[in-house]
Amino acid sequence: MKVKAIDRGIVIDHITAGKGLEIFRKLKLKNVHFPVVLLMNVASTRYGKKDVIKVENRIDLDMEMLALMDHQLIVNIIENNVVAEKRKPSLPRHIKGLFNCENPRCISNEDPYVSSSFVRIDTEKKTYQCIYCEENVSLMDKRF
Ligand SMILES: [Zn+2]
Repeated sequence: MKVKAIDRGIVIDHITAGKGLEIFRKLKLKNVHFPVVLLMNVASTRYGKKDVIKVENRIDLDMEMLALMDHQLIVNIIENNVVAEKRKPSLPRHIKGLFNCENPRCISNEDPYVSSSFVRIDTEKKTYQCIYCEENVSLMDKRF
């Protein structure tokens, strides 16, 4: 399947097959007034299959959130029909308040004034550690 190239906008490429819809929703692309395309299960030389999102507009992307959802993807910024910039999202070093610590006795779960806080300890395995109780959490299968 061929989709018309875009003059100016964003192509989120190499999304892990099956995650495109989730990212499409997270970016709230359902309710926009400019053209957007979600392609699913496109043939990929690198990964076999991939999802792709094309946005015919420049929108602000939360690269850290994208990295948390799928750190395989690549964001292409398109200007005048060509890729002007490629951005690879990287996982944030710190995450605050996005999800709870898995240790029920952790102070962040017991004290309503303490919000959860994690520091990245392993990028490959997407592992973070709670700064209060040192419980490790893998974000591999977490959904945001
Ligand atoms: Zn904790």
